[in-house]
Amino acid sequence: MPARNTKQKEAIRAALESAGRPLTADEVLARAKSAVSGLGAATVYRNLRTLLDESWLAEVQLPGEVTRYELSGKGHHHHFHCRLCGQVFELPACRGDFPALAPKGFEVTGHEVILYGYCPGCAPPPRRPRA
Ligand SMILES: [Zn+2]
Ligand SMILES: [Zn+2]
Repeated sequence: MPARNTKQKEAIRAALESAGRPLTADEVLARAKSAVSGLGAATVYRNLRTLLDESWLAEVQLPGEVTRYELSGKGHHHHFHCRLCGQVFELPACRGDFPALAPKGFEVTGHEVILYGYCPGCAPPPRRPRA
């Protein structure tokens, strides 16, 4: 049933576009299933695979974490992983001066940077200076 397949794929794309951050397959399912009744994990995985093959999506691999998915074509960037809620966010910039950390004689050809901490929804309120 092509119409249903198209609707499923559109809902999955919309979930990833509206999130604005990398999502796990479970997060995609949770966000897309309100738009498509009966949407299941197998359908989500199949569509994620197709969107990867079409280069519309890119994989985000963090150590010890399930694969997340983000829109492709964003260029070089890094991620922030909230230690409390587990959500992963995109960082817009890279400092880029990492080759300077390597000892003399080493040629740096790449780097991985992940920032950890608490997202705005999880961070404790700012401490007030004592009066
Ligand atoms: Zn959080
Ligand atoms: Zn970088």
